Amino acid sequence: MAVCLQLVSNCIHCNVDNSENWFYCRSCGKHASENKYSQNLWMSTERGKRTDVEFSTQTIDESINEMNKKKEERYAQSW
Ligand SMILES: [Zn+2]
Repeated sequence: MAVCLQLVSNCIHCNVDNSENWFYCRSCGKHASENKYSQNLWMSTERGKRTDVEFSTQTIDESINEMNKKKEERYAQSW
């Protein structure tokens, strides 16, 4: 599959012939190689997932902190 993609040497963005196998397309300036492009896409997706996890973790921590603050406020009021 990867070999077939390398043999097909057209830009994946604008489909311009890239028989010289430039890393960047000379027509649109983007990555012409679908193999490397898919790897970058996969890495960015993994980063996005990790970022989502971090965001959700922060949200949970913030909600827990808010609950603790409310508890502290209640204790302070009751004392
Ligand atoms: Zn292109």
